[in-house]
Formats: sequence, C-alpha cells, structure tokens
Amino acid sequence: MVSLYASRQKIYPRSVAGIFSSWRWLTVWITQIVFYGLPWLEWNARQAVLFDLEARRFYIFGLVLYPQDFIYLTGLLVISALSLFLFTAVAGRLWCGFACPQTVYTEIFLWIEKKVEGDRSARMRLDQSSFSIRKFGKKWLKHALWIAFALWTGFTFVGYFTPIRDLAALSLAASLGPWQTFWIFFYGFATYGNAGFMREQVCKYMCPYARFQSAMFDKDTMIVTYDEK
Ligand code: SF4
Repeated sequence: MVSLYASRQKIYPRSVAGIFSSWRWLTVWITQIVFYGLPWLEWNARQAVLFDLEARRFYIFGLVLYPQDFIYLTGLLVISALSLFLFTAVAGRLWCGFACPQTVYTEIFLWIEKKVEGDRSARMRLDQSSFSIRKFGKKWLKHALWIAFALWTGFTFVGYFTPIRDLAALSLAASLGPWQTFWIFFYGFATYGNAGFMREQVCKYMCPYARFQSAMFDKDTMIVTYDEK
C-alpha cells in the first residue's frame, strides 16, 4: 500500500549570512523591542498601551477606545488584510520571511540552540551521540533558556491585558490570579512548542495564510522556487 504521508525528518538549518538575513534580524530586533518594551511605557500616569477587558477600555497612548468603537478595529483589520494581500502579490512571502511571529520566534530559538549546541554539524553529531553528561547538560541548558524566554513572552503578552507592573509584582509575590497564570503558561507553552519543536510544521499544517498564499501569486510575483528552465 502506498503511504500518503512521510514522517517528519528533523531539519538542521545552516547559518546563513547576507543581506536578506540581515534584514530578517533587523525586523526581529524591531518587532521584539516593540513587543517586549511597549507594555512598560507610561503615558499620563498609566500604561501607554493596555487592553483592559474588565473595564472594557482599550488605551492606546492618548486614545481611549470603548466597545462601541470596535468599528475602528474592524477598519484596521480590513486595511491590514488588504495590505497583506497586496504585499504578497507583489513581493511574495514578505510577511512569512520577515515579520510572522512563527518566523521571528523560530529564529530566536534557533539562535539559542546554536549558541548552546553549536553549528549545524555539531548539533547533528550531538543528536546522534549516545547519552552522556555533556549531552544532558547541553540539552538541559537549551531547554531551560527556551522555557525562560517562552515564559517571559507569555508574561509580556498578558501584560497587554493586565497592568504589567502589577503583574510583575504579583509574579514576584507568587500571587497571580488563575487566569493570569493560565494565559502566561498557555502562551509560553505555545511559544516553546511552536518555535522549539514544531517550526516549519506550523506553516505546513496549521497556518491558514499558507493555504491561500498561492492564490495571490502570479508570474511576476517574487518567490523562491525552482527555475523551470
Ligand atoms: S506560513 Fe504562516 S506560520 Fe508560516 S511563516 Fe508564513 S504566516 Fe507564518
């Protein structure tokens, strides 16, 4: 019988350097500085960007939005979707390559992996080697760093919905509420799983955008593909 599915082979990406790689790192830095830094900004004695679901108020710098203002969010989403379609039609997988959180976090997790386990060939050798204290130590350190980074990401995400300074104080006092705890761990776990283990499988099997990308391509779209000649 012919099997329709092949089991996944682990990919060990090589380090690459060049202009597109530099641009990708630039977008990684910009998006992450904004994501991790924004909730700590103050504006008129309150958090500059806070989506307070309990009070049904969204604070975005000087702007305060109420539930009846959701039309603006709808408009923003429509503009974002149309821009995404336009960029994809003109320049291919720009979003995927440079700004998608899956790409950005995979890049960061790969960087940690490379720092701890070494380059591609060292990682392959380590995975093929039998159990040893050295191997255990490297794997332990990598996962500890991944988990710490993932939890920090989950904490920051929740900090957009609960004032982040209060959240930090509650975390230090180990008195977080059940929902805050759940979302920090849930978001952290998703980051750890998607960027550490799932990686390209998220694009292949889970991402809706990947499913309809090809509908936006035409013969002039810039894509990385085989040359039919
Ligand atoms: S296919 Fe989807 S998950 Fe993968 S990089 Fe593109 S947008 Fe992100």
